Amino acid sequence: MQEDSYRHKGMRKILVDNLRNKGISDEKVLMAINNVPRHVFLDSSFLDFAYQDKAFPIGSGQTISQPFTVAFQTSLLELEKGHKVLEIGTGSGYQACVLAEMGAKVFTIERQRNLYTKTKSFLTEFPYRIRTFLADGNKGLPTYAPFDRILITAAAPEIPQALIDQLKTGGMMVLPLCENEEYQTMVRITKKEDGNLKRETFGDFRFVPMLKEIGND
Ligand code: SAH
Repeated sequence: MQEDSYRHKGMRKILVDNLRNKGISDEKVLMAINNVPRHVFLDSSFLDFAYQDKAFPIGSGQTISQPFTVAFQTSLLELEKGHKVLEIGTGSGYQACVLAEMGAKVFTIERQRNLYTKTKSFLTEFPYRIRTFLADGNKGLPTYAPFDRILITAAAPEIPQALIDQLKTGGMMVLPLCENEEYQTMVRITKKEDGNLKRETFGDFRFVPMLKEIGND
């Protein structure tokens, strides 16, 4: 793994200040972003991009989400230490590390085979216990359910019923829901004690699409 020097730490601090200025106020989230070295998820030649608040290509046609989006989605989760969290869309593994850094027990699903293989092995270099799965996130992980929190990091055309079923009572799911082809609305679903769902919306974002079935594309 690439080293994490004072220069990197300094760049990260500037990124965190930048996120705070953009309205991220959850200090636990900001601290996790401060602690997880984002540059190690990118090729070393892209160092100058690692701490800009931008999404970035990670191969296999996928992207590592923009730090603001990671911070925003993570804040909406209202995470507590020890929470069992299911992430759909492992990608680079960066978001999974942020969740794990905050003390969550992370289960993460990727459908793209090459990305899954690469990230699974890369994640073993971190001190976190993150369980990775090659599967279609639309189906969730029935064997490990229920989850306190579910986070979808790809644009979902609809809210997958299987994931609602795998959410604990009182649990929350955050997802970018497709409104049209251009953008998605950030949605938070809370499963209430009476079994009904509370739905809140939080503005527009852009994600790569959530696809069906495992693939090599
Ligand atoms: N969370 C990632 C960013 C993910 S980009 C990070 O921190 O880097 C979205 C990811 O979702 C892509 O890797 C894409 O392959 C994956 N994906 C798309 N549809 C999926 C599905 N049905 N199940 C699991 N993963 C999916």
